[in-house]
Amino acid sequence: MAASIVSHSRNSWVTPPFQSAAHPPKPRGSVYEIVTARILEQLEKGVIPWRRPWRAELPMNLISGKAYRGLNVFLLASQGYGSRYWMTYQQAVKLGGHVRQGEHSTLVTFWHIGEERTRTSPDGTVEKTRPFLLRYYHVFNLEQTEGIDIPRASSQPRVNPIEQCEAVVSGMPNAPKREQSDRAWYRPPSDTVGMPARALFASSEEYYSTLFHELTHSTGHASRIGREGIEQLNTFGSESYSREELVAEMGAAMLCGISGIASGTVENYAAYLKAWIDRLRGDSRLLISAASAAQKAADYIQGVQPVGGEV
Ligand SMILES: [Zn+2]
Repeated sequence: MAASIVSHSRNSWVTPPFQSAAHPPKPRGSVYEIVTARILEQLEKGVIPWRRPWRAELPMNLISGKAYRGLNVFLLASQGYGSRYWMTYQQAVKLGGHVRQGEHSTLVTFWHIGEERTRTSPDGTVEKTRPFLLRYYHVFNLEQTEGIDIPRASSQPRVNPIEQCEAVVSGMPNAPKREQSDRAWYRPPSDTVGMPARALFASSEEYYSTLFHELTHSTGHASRIGREGIEQLNTFGSESYSREELVAEMGAAMLCGISGIASGTVENYAAYLKAWIDRLRGDSRLLISAASAAQKAADYIQGVQPVGGEV
């Protein structure tokens, strides 16, 4: 087929190659494995964390006021709490309240920057490196606590979500060309997004979530962020293809969450779930790396300068 990436929101999902489907995730292991196991638990219950409609705005730490990023967005938002605010056990105490007894925590990940190391290579060059180690900690939603005042600023009404979607689309810097087509796709050689007419979508939400998906693909173009899945577009169904699909889905989900709409629906739901369960069991690094690439893509589309140090 021609070198284009076709949207999978309807009917065209192809199962990626299966890998070691018989391996259950290990209960203990690297942070990658622990985090992947959490997401797998949800997939096995039929919940697709990056497709779940968000009940709250982007999850944020109550004390620092910083929005969580990358995979944390899905780890937290998919828990289904109504508040966007999260905190550690200690932070709840510091705020004069406490976590209710029996409440379960949710994991969030962060990069720990290790001690600077000096390495001398055989040719005598001295190299300084700092290892980035993935770590995690536990947080609780504001709804799991007692005695903490909800920040007043949190109840600001949102602007109309569809207007917000349109603002994201029209505000994208260095946007790709657009073309009307009978299906949704991104074609890297001509840097063009194809989209069916808006009236053909079941809802404006479906239209924008599909468009966000294709725009996320376009951030992989060399003139933007540049991403392997787009720059070296491989055959349909290949490993980097399915990773690129996950990046596009997660990027679209982040933009949907920011705009206040739900992601589009998945057809062939059971096959879709099974494909991702098998895929993630075979590759514990996939989620973190795809979510981090999706965050960069969503930042790019919104014209936000990248922030380092978080996943
Ligand atoms: Zn796609």
